Amino acid sequence: MLIAARHALDVHSLQRVAIVDFDVHHGNGIEAVFTGDSRVLMCSFFQHPFYPFSGADNHASNMVNVPLPARTRGMAVCEVVDMLWLPKLEAFKPQMIFVSAGFDAHREDDMANMGLVEDDYAWIIEQIRTVAKCHAQGRIVSCLEGGYNLSALGRQRGRGRPFAGAGGNLGRLLFSCGCVRT
Ligand SMILES: [Zn+2]
Repeated sequence: MLIAARHALDVHSLQRVAIVDFDVHHGNGIEAVFTGDSRVLMCSFFQHPFYPFSGADNHASNMVNVPLPARTRGMAVCEVVDMLWLPKLEAFKPQMIFVSAGFDAHREDDMANMGLVEDDYAWIIEQIRTVAKCHAQGRIVSCLEGGYNLSALGRQRGRGRPFAGAGGNLGRLLFSCGCVRT
């Protein structure tokens, strides 16, 4: 995702891209590369303290990284998205949105200890779509980056329909690792 965002900026001359990361782990590589880069806005939440034990102490204005304790439920996560992510995304007006789509914060996923369910992911995805429609001509690139409970992933299919061309099959799209609407 980092390379894709860099490609959009450097090769396609976009001026503002957002990286939205709802994987349960913190995206430390993306943070390390883009901290202070005003062309990029990173919005994430992640379980903390948890591997890779980073992200909670970066106060750069382009890093909206929100550490959340284990057992945080989906309703609280959606509030974080509503109160902290969306105002920053609206103000930033990204020309393209890259989504690090990890589903390992699902409450049935043993990788971590968060409490999201399908409806929470569907709601978050809908908000991302709305921002993309308003500011980015609908352009979203997504990559499945986590999610280890196959039953939960399967049930996520068809919920949210985040990306044009997906045919409503979220699971298949995410496993195919990327879909671009131009
Ligand atoms: Zn993860």
